[in-house]
Amino acid sequence: MAFTVAVATLLAILPGSAAAAIATGGAPTAAGGPPAPPSATGAPSPGAPSAGVLSLASAKTTPRVSFYYGVRSPSLRFEIESTQAKNDLRVDVIDETGEAVRSFYRNDVEPHSTVGIRWDGVTATKRPAPNGRYSFRVVSQGTSRIARRASTSSESLGLSFDFYGYAFPILGKHDYGNSGARFGASRSGHTHQGQDVMAVCGLPLVAARGGRVQYSTYDGAAGNYIVIDGKGTPYDTAYMHLAEPSPLKEGDLVRTGQPIGIVGDTGDATACHLHFELWAAPGWYEGGSPIDPLAYLKAWDAYS
Ligand SMILES: [Zn+2]
Repeated sequence: MAFTVAVATLLAILPGSAAAAIATGGAPTAAGGPPAPPSATGAPSPGAPSAGVLSLASAKTTPRVSFYYGVRSPSLRFEIESTQAKNDLRVDVIDETGEAVRSFYRNDVEPHSTVGIRWDGVTATKRPAPNGRYSFRVVSQGTSRIARRASTSSESLGLSFDFYGYAFPILGKHDYGNSGARFGASRSGHTHQGQDVMAVCGLPLVAARGGRVQYSTYDGAAGNYIVIDGKGTPYDTAYMHLAEPSPLKEGDLVRTGQPIGIVGDTGDATACHLHFELWAAPGWYEGGSPIDPLAYLKAWDAYS
């Protein structure tokens, strides 16, 4: 309870966007925009690829948790040691089974030059990668020889990271309310088309899935609300009763995990909460239909 009070106090003295920026480590709030583009794939060395005996002089992966179409993409920076002056390298993103889901090629890499690779979470078959733990792996193109320090795994070198398709939309303490909060609960004249997630007013909200802002406006029932057409998915997500209008405008691109507003009780709401909707293709009031989002929310909650 002390934590809740402290957060509420902090939020009370900060504008919503500043509080959100703190809670998300400085993620952008107002302006939308697509994620930074991924590194070029490159191509294998023409002719016979060549590399010396490789080891990693340094290597670092950031961030350790990231999301598809997210605020920050998984990135590797490394330098090699080698017995050769020029080395034809391949950098793989590998899943937990060791299978490469995406590869990048860098030719004629010199020892101690810094190489940076940024992955956009898209597999070689052009699909968003499934949830899981991944690692970067640096190998020579000609053989499957792996650059590593003696007897260290990529995990102990710090090259692993967790990757998810969705972020939990509330940054802070919350609960799923009573039966009236559930999808399908009766309301006067209709049934409840989303899940209410109870949380104190002022807590930052983030996009569960980035994409394009389809609506960002006010309605007498929904209050301030925002609808996002999820990138790479058949789903739209809707967030209602925001305390203030979202800083995002219709047409903006928003990233997964990016702040989109703060919890409120505007419109037809008797308590501070997020009303969250998940709609199947073709989308929110575009001929799609709402889905019970509770199991999804709980799954995202478990790793967020
Ligand atoms: Zn509701």
